Amino acid sequence: MKKQKLAILGSTGSIGQQTLDLCRQFPEYFVPEVLTANCRAEALIEQALEFNPNVVVVRQESAYQKVKEALQNTDTKVFCGDESIVQSAASSEVDTVVVALVGFAGLLPALAAAKSGKRIALATKEALVVAGELLTKAVIEGKALMLPVDSEHSAIFQCLQGEQTSEVEKLILTASGGPFRGFSFDEIQNVTLEQALKHPSWKMGKKITIDSATMMNKGFEMIEAHWLFGIKPSDIEVVVHPQSIIHSMIQYVDGSIKAQLGIPDMRLPIQYALTWPIRMKNQLPRTDFFSLKQLNFEDVDTKVFRHLQLAYESIEAGGTAPCLLNAANEVAVESFIKGKTSFFGMQGIVEKALNTLTIEKIESLEQLIECDKKTRHFCNEQIKNQ
Ligand code: MG
Repeated sequence: MKKQKLAILGSTGSIGQQTLDLCRQFPEYFVPEVLTANCRAEALIEQALEFNPNVVVVRQESAYQKVKEALQNTDTKVFCGDESIVQSAASSEVDTVVVALVGFAGLLPALAAAKSGKRIALATKEALVVAGELLTKAVIEGKALMLPVDSEHSAIFQCLQGEQTSEVEKLILTASGGPFRGFSFDEIQNVTLEQALKHPSWKMGKKITIDSATMMNKGFEMIEAHWLFGIKPSDIEVVVHPQSIIHSMIQYVDGSIKAQLGIPDMRLPIQYALTWPIRMKNQLPRTDFFSLKQLNFEDVDTKVFRHLQLAYESIEAGGTAPCLLNAANEVAVESFIKGKTSFFGMQGIVEKALNTLTIEKIESLEQLIECDKKTRHFCNEQIKNQ
């Protein structure tokens, strides 16, 4: 395999750190040339000193001086702000862009990487949720390659190898069910932030952990799968599988089902996104069926986990509806983390935005940026007045 020069957007986050873990293990194949972070100056400095990248970008102005001073005697160039992150995604210095930013912030860098023909390892599912049509078009036009990092989509992508999309009958997305699996409508009313942050099988960042607890994450993944693989939302089924060993499945037109299994460790899908079509030997733990004993499957109660239903409704409505869904959800999650909204209150915020704001046909990127802004404003006002 050829050596790849990486831009890791969101290097101090969970996916970013695990990608650097792979760089540490396979220095002959993966070299981080660009690292970007939101505001965690200390962590970014430490990474830069270890890997000596060409460029680091910090998003928040407040952390810029600290990073710049700490790296002044190194060869690493330090930049600040969103525009620099977008530029770094298109830089001729890199072959592969790992997009692991949180939420809407991942969209513009992902588009820039697509337009400049990069190999994109996409972890920010929100980019496809918000702008699936624009992003997939940019990938084709830019002759880029977009590979999923999300474990479910990596599983589907692996099951599709050697197969035709036209012979897919349905995609079966597995879901761990999160910390509130099996909770009744009444039980879910009083759950706390601390409980919501305790995911039973995956170690992830805060935003996605909350999205897993509400099952918004699975709703986003359904939309992500629709854009990545061109499968109708009505042919994408969600099945709760608490052990998180089967990462997803495909049922073909002859009734045959292919599944991808493995330990729940994100380094596996990250590695596949970086090495495809090659598989590379690694030292991760292997699945032990005898200690597992059983694999279970359950249905999702969408009366309790309404977020999942809202995701189906928004992709069926089309246009700016998924963009609106995402913006409302980002505001709701932030508000829940800050203790201003209850767990159950989050779905009220999202539902109100979807039912109140106008859904438009997508004509441009600017329109999505405007829709995102308008929806955030609307939801913040709701929260203020509640
Ligand atoms: Mg996932």
